[in-house]
Amino acid sequence: MTTYEAVIGLEIHVQLRTRTKMFCRCPNRFGDAPNANVCSVCLAHPGMLPVANGEAVRQALRVGLALGCRIPERSKFDRKNYFYPDSPKAYQISQYDQPLCAEGAFQVPGEDGGFVVGITRAHLEEDAAKTIHVGGEAGRIAGSGSSIVDFNRAGTPLLEIVTEPDLRSGEHARRFLTLLRATIVATGASDCDMEKGTLRCDANVSIRPVGSTGFGTKCELKNMNSFRFLERGIAAEIARQTALLEVGGRVTQATLHYDPSSESLTVLRTKEEADDYRYFPEPDLLPVAPSPTLLEELRAGLPELPVARIARLRDTYGLPDATAATIALTPSLADYYEELAALTGDPRLAANWTMGELSAHLNAASLEAAASPVTPPRLAALIALTVAGTVGSNAAKTVFGELVADPAVDAATIVERLGLAQVDDADELGAIVDAVLAANAAEVAAFRAGKVQLIGFFTGQVMRQSGGRADPKVVQALLNDRLR
Ligand SMILES: [Zn+2]
Repeated sequence: MTTYEAVIGLEIHVQLRTRTKMFCRCPNRFGDAPNANVCSVCLAHPGMLPVANGEAVRQALRVGLALGCRIPERSKFDRKNYFYPDSPKAYQISQYDQPLCAEGAFQVPGEDGGFVVGITRAHLEEDAAKTIHVGGEAGRIAGSGSSIVDFNRAGTPLLEIVTEPDLRSGEHARRFLTLLRATIVATGASDCDMEKGTLRCDANVSIRPVGSTGFGTKCELKNMNSFRFLERGIAAEIARQTALLEVGGRVTQATLHYDPSSESLTVLRTKEEADDYRYFPEPDLLPVAPSPTLLEELRAGLPELPVARIARLRDTYGLPDATAATIALTPSLADYYEELAALTGDPRLAANWTMGELSAHLNAASLEAAASPVTPPRLAALIALTVAGTVGSNAAKTVFGELVADPAVDAATIVERLGLAQVDDADELGAIVDAVLAANAAEVAAFRAGKVQLIGFFTGQVMRQSGGRADPKVVQALLNDRLR
């Protein structure tokens, strides 16, 4: 039987964070009353002329530089013609043959050695208005009684990023998009929030026999709105195409919608030929020619990007790739971690706490690390108590909860107030051990007859009697001594 491999490319739309829209002065703002942010330019009244937003161009260039793109000396805007109520001009201003950013290469690190994804292009365009289909199932047009249009989004700046078909699985796509998102967020160009739609992703998926270099017929998966759904949707589409080919069928080019609740794919439309948008140059806008000085200035202004920070966390602190990646993807968490590692002098232990209790608390409270009441010095003081053996691991978690609840108190005070200090006094623990052994004579006999796994039972009893405060190492030693 033929073995197939998947060939996947992504098209990503990023809404840029600018004060105003791409070609007019209307506010670029999410969540306002419908049709509040409109003017004669973005509503396409006759005779109105667009003016390109310089800040949007700079943001797009920052992203292009961060993705390792080549920035051509000159790029231009084009009209992409289509007729739909979300575009009052009946065309979208986009970029066709001369995009702002060209050929890039984006490295995705990982335990498996990672992979490189080619960036075909990144170009500027304007977003369409938002169409809402009233009465249709889940807002879809099928079965709806009417459609209403909100033009607040019409004309807002979008950066479309197109990758080469370099991805081979849904997991690859998820890892790539996760790192791409963190990189764009780091540049400050967008908040890339998939739930709010400021990051949208379509995937082109095809399969081919392993070893072949040709391309199969591709299908497009539309608008997957989470990293998990992107991974699962692609996996489902690869399975669908493989099943078709294995029974001698063929893949028909189609646009598909993935429904994560039923994990099913539905065909939105099939197409036998490419759409013809009759692109032609936009006569109302000047070409964009970024000067070398501007590019140098933008490049110098970029912060440390996630891929560089992953490498630095790995090399400086000896963290495994996966841990370094998880921490580096959130800049405020990475800042927190680095401060904690310096304060404790133990990068591994600092990473365990950052990934464990701290992350759980931040997620539960929807907090950025910098806003946590458990500051790095407070957590470092608690970690010092665990290293010194003053508190055991369970008690330390209790102390952490108290640090969250009361920002004014320090770890040592909590330990004292709640009586959480670990007991390692051999006399005190010896008395408990003796009592436990006396109360469980049958188990002691069984242990001496060879049932050595009962050591766990005795340890558990002693820990319980001590209220969880006994030092397990001392308990082990005492038990071994008494049971000889
Ligand atoms: Zn406007």
